[in-house]
Amino acid sequence: MRFEISKVLDAIEGRVCTDPSLARAVLDLAEVIRYQDLDGGRPANLLRLGMVIDALARDLEEDSVPVYAIVHRALLSDPDLTSNERMVVRRWADDGLVEVLDHPGDRMLEVADLLGLPVLSRARFDGLRGRFPWTVEQPGRVLAPVPGAGGPVFIAHVGGGNVPVAGTRSATGEKLLARQWRCPEPGCALFGGGGGGAFADLARVERAPAGQPPPALRGGVPTCPRHGARLGDAGPRPRTEVLAVRIGGLIRRRFVLTEEQPVLVGRAPEEQGGIVLGQWLNDEARRWISRGHVRFELRVGEVIVTDVSTNGSGVRPGGSMAEADRIALKPQQSRVLSAGDMVELYPGVQVGRADELPSGAPFTPTSVMAEAPTMAMRLPRP
Ligand SMILES: [Zn+2]
Repeated sequence: MRFEISKVLDAIEGRVCTDPSLARAVLDLAEVIRYQDLDGGRPANLLRLGMVIDALARDLEEDSVPVYAIVHRALLSDPDLTSNERMVVRRWADDGLVEVLDHPGDRMLEVADLLGLPVLSRARFDGLRGRFPWTVEQPGRVLAPVPGAGGPVFIAHVGGGNVPVAGTRSATGEKLLARQWRCPEPGCALFGGGGGGAFADLARVERAPAGQPPPALRGGVPTCPRHGARLGDAGPRPRTEVLAVRIGGLIRRRFVLTEEQPVLVGRAPEEQGGIVLGQWLNDEARRWISRGHVRFELRVGEVIVTDVSTNGSGVRPGGSMAEADRIALKPQQSRVLSAGDMVELYPGVQVGRADELPSGAPFTPTSVMAEAPTMAMRLPRP
């Protein structure tokens, strides 16, 4: 039992992040875990976060959808959570996967504003409409997770829709995200590391500057939301490209490519940071696709793909599915990806730029709960 819960919490851990390129919605963790009516269980339950993330994936018709969670510091010692749950949240906090704040205040809306993300919350933001007019002007930007037949469903605060809608990054957000920032507080999980020199805390996961969260603005000054300290400008933020993996017509996951770190994609790459496709593949595809099959690199803004497989792969120029257009990529061959190009590891298994690779098949979600099905079945249904 304990082991199964740990597996579910591990699965949820893969769906929380503060990376502006990957997060798809903002929520307040302390609020979500107390949605007791979602399952009728104990007052606070971390598994409710998994239920809300599942609902988000279903509505966005995409697997592996991460959320940006704001966490009130009191939650780290909340007696309504199990000691295991508190330990998990502390680990997320230490690794900078969530943003832990003494006074969350309007930070949830600030993050949503800077990043152009929808907000999942039942809270009313009446006093903040002036500062964040999109909360009332853009239907689908703020949605309440409520009990539904097969788990939570969303209801938009405005317009009555059900599907979360992304906006665009605000002009301030674009400006802040063009730079990298450094917090003077040693070991800061949000704005430390990444070449932090004296500030880097080796006990922690080094944070790639490309994935830094958006700073808070206090009186127009970029500030660490956790420590309240003025952030130092550490130069331009490294260039990134967001790629997506589409299998069977559906986006299964996205990943960020930086100039510092090539990314290997395959059945089960051994390198750290490799993208594992094995769990989505049928037997035939698993036999064809090598453990590490293609390597992606970002060089002066160009995405370069290199086949490192046994069987080779192909490039579909401009995303064309016509067989005559397919360009074979033999083992060890490289190619620069032009706009719209997509790499095909095996029929139906493709990688391309996330904004050029739409989902195109009916959705059959791999639930984050799926990794421990017996546990998921024990969750009381509303
Ligand atoms: Zn800090």
